[in-house]
Amino acid sequence: CGMVAIVGRPNVGKSTLLNRLLGQKISITSRKPQTTRHRIMGIHTEGPHQIVFIDTPGLHIEEKRAINRLMNRAAASSLADVSMVIFVVDGLAWTADDEMVLSKLRRGDQDRKIVLAINKVDGIKDKEKLFPHLEELAAKYDFDEILPISAKTGTNVARILELARESLPESV
Ligand code: GDP
Repeated sequence: CGMVAIVGRPNVGKSTLLNRLLGQKISITSRKPQTTRHRIMGIHTEGPHQIVFIDTPGLHIEEKRAINRLMNRAAASSLADVSMVIFVVDGLAWTADDEMVLSKLRRGDQDRKIVLAINKVDGIKDKEKLFPHLEELAAKYDFDEILPISAKTGTNVARILELARESLPESV
């Protein structure tokens, strides 16, 4: 089966998004104790496809201590196994932590896709304000796709699943 990572700082909506992604057809959720590598968040099965969604907790840790730097490196290297990273941010609250996680993702980049999911667009009335840093970010980082989403209402969640399927290796 293929693996897809959901990455982002706390509170951006990763768990909510996962539940949406798994909410379709048959799904098995397994919550295992956190390891330094990654946490298995859930498995999505549909037809011939099986996608394991993981999260990499180490990526969000500050690197002040040597042990944290080591954990970070382990987390980053575990992403070598995934075919796509869904990088989730809060559409109204971009922070320096987002940028920190993003820079780690890009370090030692492999062949994997990176999709920027700008979450919580349901709460954004003024579309002009939809992510003020977007143009700057798009220029700086080479995302494969940038998607405004709402994990809460489901906006564009089907597209995320479609991209995840497309990213899987042929043999899956
Ligand atoms: P995580 O820490 O990244 O896993 O974030 P959670 O999934 O636990 O969500 C954090 C908070 O944001 C919760 O209160 C969610 O209800 C809320 N939230 C998540 N997705 C959305 C969304 O699309 N729209 C809105 N308005 N709130 C959301």
